[in-house]
Amino acid sequence: MSVGVTDTGRVNRGIAARTVFLMALFGVLAFVPLAMKLYQVQIKDHSRYEEMAVDQQTRNTVISPERGTIYDRNMKSLALSASVYNVCVNPNAIKTDAKRVEISMGLADILELDAATVEERIKSNAGKQYLAVKLRVEEEEEKAARQFVVDHKLGDFIWLEPNTKRYYPYGNFASNVLGFVSNDGQGVEGLELKYNTQLTGTPGRIVTARNTQGVTKSLQYEKYFDASNGMNMVLTLDETIQHFLEKHLSAAVVENMVTKRAIGIVMDVKTGGILGMATSPSYDLNNRNEITDPVVQAQLAGLEGEELDKATNAAQLAQYRNKAVNDTYEPGSTFKIITAAIGLEERVVTMTDRFNCGGSIKVAGISDPVNCHKKIGHGAQSFLEGIQNSCNPVFVTVGLRIGRQKFWDYMHAFGFFEKTDIDVPGESGSIISPWNAYNYSDVSLAVYSFGQTFNVTPVQMITAASAVANGGKLMWPHIASEFRDNDGNVIESVQPRVVRQVISSETAAVLCAALEEVVRDGTGRNAGVTGYRIAGKTGTSQKSQLPKEDRYGHYVVSFLGFAPADDPQIALLVAMDEPMKGDANLRSGGQMAAPLAGRIFADILPYIGLKPQYAPGSLAAMETMTPNLKELPLEDAKKVLKDMGVSYRVEGGGGTVMDQLPAQGVMMPMTADMILYTESQRPDAAVTVPDVTGKTPEDANKLLVDAGLYMKISGVADDRSTTIKAGRQDVNPGEEVPIGTVINVEFIDVSVADDAL
Ligand SMILES: [Zn+2]
Repeated sequence: MSVGVTDTGRVNRGIAARTVFLMALFGVLAFVPLAMKLYQVQIKDHSRYEEMAVDQQTRNTVISPERGTIYDRNMKSLALSASVYNVCVNPNAIKTDAKRVEISMGLADILELDAATVEERIKSNAGKQYLAVKLRVEEEEEKAARQFVVDHKLGDFIWLEPNTKRYYPYGNFASNVLGFVSNDGQGVEGLELKYNTQLTGTPGRIVTARNTQGVTKSLQYEKYFDASNGMNMVLTLDETIQHFLEKHLSAAVVENMVTKRAIGIVMDVKTGGILGMATSPSYDLNNRNEITDPVVQAQLAGLEGEELDKATNAAQLAQYRNKAVNDTYEPGSTFKIITAAIGLEERVVTMTDRFNCGGSIKVAGISDPVNCHKKIGHGAQSFLEGIQNSCNPVFVTVGLRIGRQKFWDYMHAFGFFEKTDIDVPGESGSIISPWNAYNYSDVSLAVYSFGQTFNVTPVQMITAASAVANGGKLMWPHIASEFRDNDGNVIESVQPRVVRQVISSETAAVLCAALEEVVRDGTGRNAGVTGYRIAGKTGTSQKSQLPKEDRYGHYVVSFLGFAPADDPQIALLVAMDEPMKGDANLRSGGQMAAPLAGRIFADILPYIGLKPQYAPGSLAAMETMTPNLKELPLEDAKKVLKDMGVSYRVEGGGGTVMDQLPAQGVMMPMTADMILYTESQRPDAAVTVPDVTGKTPEDANKLLVDAGLYMKISGVADDRSTTIKAGRQDVNPGEEVPIGTVINVEFIDVSVADDAL
């Protein structure tokens, strides 16, 4: 029996245990080196000695430990290692040209290599005992290589050495978070790098003595050092939430013509656990050299030669960056959450305090007044209305009441001066003027109060805002939650950590309620999801580092919010860097980022088990799931619908329902008729989808019903306002679809004010 890696592929625990037993029995732990010595001493014949020295191979084979699997919080594998093999030859044993040619041709054929190259490599390594002809071959090539060795009795010259290869089952998914490993299996980016030590394990070795036939002499001549596999890592990340985040983010990047990528973070506000974190466009972990961003592809297309190589390399490094953690941005109006929190906590303002906005505010030390995004001003308003309107003069006033020292202290407390210590590599620090510069006048304070002229990371921003959502407790953001061994035993469990209490729970509750009003009826309205209570704030920030004349239109648009507003569980930050769609004055957080956030919330909230609560009489409340009525007596079917409150009409004079429209199991508005066919199947007709964009919910519904279609509503769909219009529909106008198809229509409030400076 041979137990070398060549034949079994893997040294399992059973063999290792048996070996240890035998070694103990024969005392071979000491015997292996002694045996080698004995050969040298005992063999007198010089030529024979030489021959033995060459033929008697002592191979020292490294056994790679298996790298740990990375799981999401529901134990779905996000990164895993599979066994592969290195095909190796012993050039020193190949004595004749004929043998070398035979081996080169055979292996080249199986491994899809160039035979001449293989032969040349064997030749130039003639004095060596080890040459890897091909690394990490998978099952098919491995089996063929083994067969080749058996068929041609080449066990003396060729063997297969176990190795591992990293796979990412989801490909282009959470790439900027997971990262990847190098060709030699070391983590070089993302979590693969951060937790390389835990995932790697310790390599083992096999020392094998072989005779001239290449056959292992006996168990006594083999020595095993068992590899100790890496730990498996369980993340706080949720594959489904990550999927929702990436799906909507990448669609928004295309739709809004985002030129400098976009980010999204979903955080569990109670634990600081990261549920989702994405940069878009991202890249494929299984094909990481390929540039995926079409903007960058276009830039590379014009280059060639060395210039192309250099630019490609830079683009690869850029696409690996986790923009949510590695880069900074000016948070803009989303920072008003923090200013409001400080003002309320320090009792320099209450929700009912009155302010007046005339479109700008004069601040001592600034030659130009600070403008409000609403040039004609918001007029008289309460602080609550000032938050809803994202009014700059209101926040400058509150900022000045807080004062430079207090404002600075709270920025510290909210964590803006230190890295969050999130467990992904390469976290950037914030970029904020030193105290001296800041303290020079109230100018900095005035501009800081609405989130401009300093840079923070997205993860700092969502962590700080999550403190407001979490009763004032600032949590440590983290992504690894457990380390387990191969048997599933938890070796280490990461505990959520409260960094500090920043504001009181009372202040936090008051502010959460105000931020819900921002989404219910303010600049955040387009983040609304019918049936759910969402709180948040939009942002449209300039880039202060750009020359003044270049700033217009080059914005970071963002939305930062949480849900449910009355008992927040998740926080969400989305930010798009330089969306260039349409007129510059229409690029805003309210118009671009808020609807994106709404789509993400709409998917996540039902997924985490929250049921929608519809306001009585709202359009969305008038939706129902269609029952199956086929083959029911007509009178029974009518009763079912009557009990459900669904109106209907009957086609034909029969007594049994033959078919129905819509089919079973779709959401249909109760304002539309369900059709019962009693004599035939429903008509197999195709209808043309009308263009409902820009229409009110009522008008859109009528257009679709007239066309023989049904409407499913998403987005902002309460019917309080005449400014709610259909923004997008999931089937394009002009397309032919079967009669009775349900068309998803997303409504947004087109009157939501631009909150840019
Ligand atoms: Zn204003």
